[in-house]
Amino acid sequence: MSVNFLELAVSGVQGLHPYQPGKPTDELARELGINEADIVKLASNENPLGPSPAIEDAIKAQLAELTRYPDGAGFELKAELCERLGVEMNQITLGNGSSDILDFIVRVFVEKGDNVVVAQHAFSIYGLVTRAAGGDVIEVPAKNWGHDLPAMAAAINDKTRIVFLTNPNNPTGTYNTREELEAFLKLVPENVVVLLDEAYFEYVNKDDYPSGIDYLNQYPNLVVSRTFSKAYGLASLRVGYGISSPELADLMNRIRPPFNVDSFALAAAKAALCDDSYLARSVEVNNQGMAQLTGAFDELGLEFIPSVGNFVSFKLPEAFEDKAVNQALLQQGVIIRPVANYDMPGYIRVSVGTQAENQTFIDALKKVLA
Ligand SMILES: *Cc1c(COP(=O)(O)O)cnc(C)c1O
Repeated sequence: MSVNFLELAVSGVQGLHPYQPGKPTDELARELGINEADIVKLASNENPLGPSPAIEDAIKAQLAELTRYPDGAGFELKAELCERLGVEMNQITLGNGSSDILDFIVRVFVEKGDNVVVAQHAFSIYGLVTRAAGGDVIEVPAKNWGHDLPAMAAAINDKTRIVFLTNPNNPTGTYNTREELEAFLKLVPENVVVLLDEAYFEYVNKDDYPSGIDYLNQYPNLVVSRTFSKAYGLASLRVGYGISSPELADLMNRIRPPFNVDSFALAAAKAALCDDSYLARSVEVNNQGMAQLTGAFDELGLEFIPSVGNFVSFKLPEAFEDKAVNQALLQQGVIIRPVANYDMPGYIRVSVGTQAENQTFIDALKKVLA
């Protein structure tokens, strides 16, 4: 007689499917029997540059402190963030990756019977953490692949606790303008939280792209989340943060595990934050790589969704099936991400790599589509 633990799990968890990460390079190397170094992974929007050299000493210095708990308040990192962003310490919530912030805000506000509003083609974690908390997800159809903000505001009902915006959105790479965001914030009732996920903020190079931080004073119901996983090149260390009114930060900090960001991550994030030249190089390599990839798509006659992030989604010709193309690329040691599970069948998302990585991908894709 064995216990059926699935039946015992809370109802929200029973129906969940785990988040699907990009395939790790060592796993594919084992499967293909080739060197890990020969694999090109453009599947998780990671920084292709390798870490900032500035973090090495910061990490080494922490080795001697390995037996000690980290600074649970993250004072030094928060102080640096405050100075750079022009906010106060009590407005920041540190996360083990910005995914933590998404989870905290949901656990603070959502219980059974409540709902959150998300956009079609949006990051899957919002729905995952909401369902785990017993909440429902209202998905609003996209417009030209992007968030339809007036429709999202109109979808809010008396059970809505949070609206999730991703600016720019992953995996479509679309963004909402300052004007659109301002009109939206005005429409949202003040008792509904707006979580503005700016994971790719640093890459965007558009005059009409807004910084959520500019609206914090006016909107105490706004939480902006950012991360060190992308442009700062620290995906492995797991550091992100929320910036909000002190009231919302206080609530999130009540459920934040006391040592959710470890000493290495805190020290490396601070060093990466101070390395302005690394950030500038990340953005420059991304701009060049984006031009390289979209140039190749044009040459191949492939439709793509113009992206302001460090990734771009393109459409396969009708005769090709995304699963098969994915397999064929994997056979050539190239890892990309089919995005059918984002309601985008026939599309593939590729992260922008180094020039050489992009070229390897382009050559492999040409072979597969030949
Ligand atoms: C990558 C990504 C994040 C960042 O996740 P971390 O937990 O900070 O690594 C958040 N939101 C979106 C939309 C992302 O694509």
